[in-house]
Amino acid sequence: MTRKVHVETWGCQMNVADSEKMLSLLQGMDYVLTEDEKEADLFLLNTCHIREKAKHKVISRLGMLREMKKQRPGVQIAVTGCVAQAEGAKLLKEAPQIDVLVGPGKIDELPALIQKSTVEGTAAMATGFNKPGDELKRGHHDHNTGTVPPTLTGKNEVTRFVNIIQGCNNFCTFCIVPFTRGREISRQPGEILAETRRLVEGGAREVMLLGQNVNSYGLDLVEKGDLAAGNDGPFVELLRQVANTPGLQRLRFTTSNPHDFTRPLAQLFADDPRMGRYMHLPVQSGNDRVLEVMRRKVTVEEYRERIRWLRDAVPDMAISTDLIVGFPGETDAEFEDTLKLVEEVQYSFIYAFKYSPRKGTAAARMPGQLPEAVMDERLARLNALQDSITMRQTEAECGAVREVLFLYESKKSPGVFYGRTEHFRLVRVESSRPLVGECLPVLITGGNKTALVGELADRITLH
Ligand code: SF4
Repeated sequence: MTRKVHVETWGCQMNVADSEKMLSLLQGMDYVLTEDEKEADLFLLNTCHIREKAKHKVISRLGMLREMKKQRPGVQIAVTGCVAQAEGAKLLKEAPQIDVLVGPGKIDELPALIQKSTVEGTAAMATGFNKPGDELKRGHHDHNTGTVPPTLTGKNEVTRFVNIIQGCNNFCTFCIVPFTRGREISRQPGEILAETRRLVEGGAREVMLLGQNVNSYGLDLVEKGDLAAGNDGPFVELLRQVANTPGLQRLRFTTSNPHDFTRPLAQLFADDPRMGRYMHLPVQSGNDRVLEVMRRKVTVEEYRERIRWLRDAVPDMAISTDLIVGFPGETDAEFEDTLKLVEEVQYSFIYAFKYSPRKGTAAARMPGQLPEAVMDERLARLNALQDSITMRQTEAECGAVREVLFLYESKKSPGVFYGRTEHFRLVRVESSRPLVGECLPVLITGGNKTALVGELADRITLH
């Protein structure tokens, strides 16, 4: 009998990829995806633990589902993702309405756990990680069947995500990831290439390779003797092979730690136009003392060097970053260093966050936790600076012709299409013909800090 699953995904793209994988596993159990909560037999909450607020949202959502379960006792609730891993049995105690709880390292066990919970009528749980050196199956389960893995929207998506490495060995002092995702374990290149091929055959035009620390891809496989290191390292080698997937227009990857970022990787952007002209390289702070207590393993000067590698390779390289304001002990002068770096690098955009302590991390125990008002003020100054930079870049874009890969049509305004330039700027274009999935030249005519506006320039040839 066909049953229906309602999937709710919080957090990063890795969670989106994990949700798609779980959906694929559930399809094998005869579940179909539904957007309508009222007809769902199973609620799958794929959670994020990166900020305290994200966890609170999950708890409040579980409260609503508890009420709903009183009306419809047959409904099952599965909680997966980083909150499931971090909270484990404690969360089951707090929220007995949960039927299944699965950490990100145990996704493959989801069908068996649902089965177990259904038969035994009790909660079933699996958390923990594969050990380094274990075989990692982080792909969609149908890699043997040759079918295209499902999307969370039920539609063919232009961009698809492929997890290539799980976990992180870096232990930045503010970050919960090494505790919720475990140590780095890479997937075999053959499996990644096969999955990418199937996604492109199924209609994807852009693939995003994902890892918490994606630049470290393959180092564990080289250590095990499963993979030759090659001259430029296993990640660059993988990117070269994936980029050659027939029909793939763009290849992106995230997230990169500057510590593991290499010059050959920067050079790849110059050598292969499918890599685009955009890179996200999180720095977190523009001050050396703060970087040291964050345990980022690079200095500001070493970070600048990586920016130079990128811009030597591609002079108009667009770069974005992550920044934390108000890290414990951050002084006004140290924060000013962050502003200086932002001004100097001229990022195309930033993800700036107020520091929020994550239980279990070293930074949460550090002295000098800053008042909310100080962090608010710093965050506002940082965002205002970046807004002015982005607006200058928007003005400079006017009159340029950019190659835009169209990703989706506005639900509210049919005939309005959105895509991204090679520099990853969002572009809005009106068109009477469908554009989704096409890569076309667009004349930029205006825009704001969020999106550029343009018109199709089909007859213009790009050089
Ligand atoms: S490199 Fe990224 S994922 Fe790893 S600990 Fe640091 S911030 Fe977290």
